[in-house]
Amino acid sequence: MKDPIERKKVRSKFWERFPLDKLTDVEWEALCDGCGKCCLNKLEDPDTGEVALTRVACRLLDDQTCRCSQYPIRHQFVPECIVLKPDTLDQHAYWMPETCAYRLLWQNKPLPEWHPLLTGTAQSVHDAGVSVQGWTIPEFEVDEDEWEDYIIEEPI
Ligand code: SF4
Ligand code: SF4
Repeated sequence: MKDPIERKKVRSKFWERFPLDKLTDVEWEALCDGCGKCCLNKLEDPDTGEVALTRVACRLLDDQTCRCSQYPIRHQFVPECIVLKPDTLDQHAYWMPETCAYRLLWQNKPLPEWHPLLTGTAQSVHDAGVSVQGWTIPEFEVDEDEWEDYIIEEPI
């Protein structure tokens, strides 16, 4: 499967050498491993703030490619979809998937060995079993009050 993310026009090992707010736009985008897990619906406990991911996915997620099917115009359909940038990461990192590269770097942790920036191929994410490929349920098939029946354990 072709990797739609540009990972060639980046500085060598940039994620180890530069702070997140000093990356180029291409480098910032290249950090995304394409797992698709941030497009799963989440449940947040209002008392504890604990966040659980579910198998119930955003209506725009293609769970074969693990990509948004309408990324450039997604806000027309899903206005609440976030735009992740260095200055919004503090606000969102707490609910992001445990294997998400943005969250890992925000926590000063290394990229996992299956990350496409290390393997040179986007397929490594699927081969490692850490993407959503083939196991999500579209949100229009499950009532919101039943999402808790579809909670998944992280890390996946
Ligand atoms: S969870 Fe992180 S690494 Fe995975 S698709 Fe979302 S932004 Fe990219
Ligand atoms: S709109 Fe697209 S990018 Fe946003 S959560 Fe849904 S599938 Fe993911």
